[in-house]
Parts: sequence; C-alpha cells; structure tokens
Amino acid sequence: MELTPAGVGQVTYILPERCVQKKKRDKIKALLAGGIEKPDVLVQGWVRTRRDSKGGFSFIEINDGSCLANIQVIVDRKIPAETVRQLTAGCCVSARGNLTRSPGKEQALEVQAAEVTVHGTADPEHYPLQKKRHSFEFLREIAHLRPRTNTMGAVMRVRNRLAYSIHRFFNDRGFVYLNTPIITTSDCEGAGEMFQVTTLDLSSAPKANGEIDYAQDFFGQKAGLTVSGQLEGEVYALALSDIYTFGPTFRAENSNTSRHLAEFWMVEPEMAFYDLDDNMDLAEEFVKYLLADVLEHCAEDMEFFNSRIDNTVLSNLTHIAREKFERITYTDAIHQLRKANGNFVFPVEWGCNLQSEHERYLTETVYKRPVIVYNYPEEIKSFYMKLNEDHETVRAMDVLLPRLGEIIGGSQREENHDVLLQRIQAKGLKPEDYWWYLDLRRFGSAPHSGFGLGFERFVQFVTGMENIRDVIPFPRTPKSAKF
Ligand code: ATP
Ligand code: MN
Repeated sequence: MELTPAGVGQVTYILPERCVQKKKRDKIKALLAGGIEKPDVLVQGWVRTRRDSKGGFSFIEINDGSCLANIQVIVDRKIPAETVRQLTAGCCVSARGNLTRSPGKEQALEVQAAEVTVHGTADPEHYPLQKKRHSFEFLREIAHLRPRTNTMGAVMRVRNRLAYSIHRFFNDRGFVYLNTPIITTSDCEGAGEMFQVTTLDLSSAPKANGEIDYAQDFFGQKAGLTVSGQLEGEVYALALSDIYTFGPTFRAENSNTSRHLAEFWMVEPEMAFYDLDDNMDLAEEFVKYLLADVLEHCAEDMEFFNSRIDNTVLSNLTHIAREKFERITYTDAIHQLRKANGNFVFPVEWGCNLQSEHERYLTETVYKRPVIVYNYPEEIKSFYMKLNEDHETVRAMDVLLPRLGEIIGGSQREENHDVLLQRIQAKGLKPEDYWWYLDLRRFGSAPHSGFGLGFERFVQFVTGMENIRDVIPFPRTPKSAKF
C-alpha cells in the first residue's frame, strides 16, 4: 500500500505485504483502553491465574506486559480438557474470541475464547512465581523470571517512559545525543573506582621495571570502563553547543548501599555558554518535566506504586513538579545543619562532604522540597570545576531530593587554561594525561556547564522502590553479577 504524501517534501514509504493472511495480535492495553466490545480478538501472553467454575468452563487472567492490568478470558467448555489442564500460572497462551462486556464486578470487558493454544507450559510443581507475593530479595535470585511480576513490569514501563521522555526533553531543545566511549584510557576523577579492561593474562602479565607493562596490552596502555562521559561530552559541546549523553557508567566503588550500582546509566548534558545559574535552571526544569510526563503517561503504573509500594509517591511527585526548588550555597547549608545541634552521626563543619543524613535533613526537615546546594569548597570537588573569585569555593551544584538525597551533580567548568592547569597539578594529577582536555582551553575556549543525573536513582525516586537493584533489569553490585 502506498501512503499519500501529506505535502511537498514528505517522504512516502511502502508497507511490506503480508504473504499469508494472518490474524494480528491485539495488545491487552489497547483492548482495555478501547473500552468497547470487539469481535474476534487475539490475545497472547502469560497466564497469571486460573479458576474453574462449576459450569465446566474456566476463567484465566492473561498478562502480556503492555500494561499492568490482566485481561480475563473465559475458556469455553468446548476447549479440550488436556488443554485446560495445561493452563496454569506462568504458561504462555494465545486466546482468540469475542471481546464482550463482562458481567463480573472486577472487570469491564472479557474475552470469550473459542480457541486456546498453549505455546509453553509451566509446571506448577516447579514454577516459582505462584500466586503469593514474594520478597524483592527472593525475586533478585530469579532475575530471569521477575519481569513477570506486577512490580517489575510496572518498573520497566516507567523506566522506558522516562528514557523516552529524556530524549524528547533534550531533542526538543536542540541538544545533540552523543555516545561517549565506554572503554577509556583517561582515568580522570575516579581512578580508584575504575574497572580495568585488559586482555593480558594476569597470572603471567609482562613486566617492565617490576610493574605490569601495559605497552603490551590490547590498547598499548592501561584502559578501563568509563566512570563518566563528561570530559568527552565537553569536547563536543565546544563544537555543537548543546549535547547530552545517556549511557552505561561503571564504578568499582565497594559501597553496598540501596542507592549504588557498579553498572548504572547516566544522563549528562553539557552546554556551551551556560553559567552555573543556567545549569541549575536546566536541571530543575528537566526534573520537573520528567515527573509531569510520567504522572501523565504512566498513570496506571503510578497508581500501583502508590497503593503497593509507597503511599506518598503520587502526592510527592505532584508537589515537586509544581513547587520551586530551594537554592542555597554550601556555606548556608552548613549553617542550617549546625543549627540542628549535632543530631547527626557525621559531624558537620565547613569543608565536610554532605552525607545522606544531611541531605535528607535539608530536603525533608528544613525546606520540605528539593534543594540545590551550590558553591562547594574547592577541596572536596573535582579539578575541572570553575574556581570562584573567593578562591575557596567552586561553581558546583548538587540537586538533592527528599528521601533519596543526591540525584544530580554538576558544575560550571573551568574554561581558563592556566587556572585549570594549576588545579590539575594541585590535585596531584598529571597534566600530560589531560593534554587534549587542556587543549580545549587553548583553542576556542568558552564558558560552559553540565551535570549528570543517575538514571536508576531517578527511577527509584519516581517509583518509590526502596532498592536500586529493583529498578534495573540485571543489577551489578559487589559480589553479584549472576545473570
Ligand atoms: P554519591 O555521592 O551519591 O555516591 P557521586 O557524587 O559519587 O554520588 P557523581 O559522580 O556526582 O556521583 O555522579 C552523578 C550522579 O550519578 C549522581 O548524582 C547519582 O545520581 C548517580 N550515581 C553516582 N554513583 C552511582 C552509583 N554507584 N550507582 C547509581 N547511581 C550513581
Ligand atoms: Mn556528586
């Protein structure tokens, strides 16, 4: 079939012709959203439950992952008994018949199946996901089956919507999506946290002067997995103006917390001609945009999180999407924390890192909203952050969310070559390792800024899930990369 062009310049395309006339599958989401009766539908998915009636027919609930809700299918008496026996939780089926109004109170519509095909059985003796609820710890042990639970299905649909909406946010504003390298030889900030990449046999690695000779390694030098795409992002921002990365990031930090993964996804926009205020404005707009979008487009899943996981999630997100974020300097944050009079495990004084308990106190007790803390002490922040006139603080900013703490870390970057060089040296780093980064300040340097948002942390915040391991399909954490 040829599509009619809608106007000059519009490209037409031809749809593939189907060789065999085959009944097309109906997704459950579309059937339920349609809300009306429909003859001859084909539902395909996995059985969640089966009930048998005295009248000789059975009710099965099918889920196909397109939405949280199952569809009820009435299995006709004419369907052979051996087929019905196979219809147990976990099995995969096709059911074909009319979609009709349901007399039951639980659902508006149901399928009167005239035809049922079992594609894959699931022996009830062994299938681990029977009716009862399982702990998230247990489900992590069966990461290959947990996507068939209500919670994981809802998490993954929300995660998908957020990813889509991140791309939309930036593309609508003229940002270019950039893929920065996963394998890197610039062991920038997080040297200690970097996973090494090598093809050398560690038990018999070639040595030079008593140390491993990386000249003989695959890349001819020591390489690792990226801890951030920022430095490479800056390279492209100083040519394309506004870019963003959205890719996997690796940190070998041995922090076994509910907010850290060894492999996570990070969103890192980098913008030429943005100062720190512009950077904070973009970060605030970004967070609010994502929250408003997910509330609108994942309403069913969000209701589920609110009723089953955390009953404050809907009101919190709505509130945060509407209210202004508080912005305070690091120095003011320290004042606020000291007023709390030592009610913290980690003592507070100017120059200390903000711990999770401090972040929560600021967002939950003092301001009751997200807080952006900016102008941090130079000593506790990275070499590339722009030095303020006071020579004590840098133009860094962290966005802190209630309950979760830090979601975004960012800064205006140092654009002055000599100041940057001096800070690289002062931090004990080798300028020759950063020659290309310094070059950006020698040739057409420009003021610029950027930030990084941890994608899983954000999904965690949106869904109210307690553990970051339950918002990524296959979590990697210390001592755990089984699947
Ligand atoms: P934290 O202090 O919370 O460990 P960080 O300051 O080391 O984080 P940044 O280097 O600023 O993190 O990274 C930017 C963002 O990436 C953070 O604000 C956070 O949302 C996310 N992030 C950092 N480390 C991890 C991790 N191990 N697992 C998941 N997300 C992370
Ligand atoms: Mn940070």
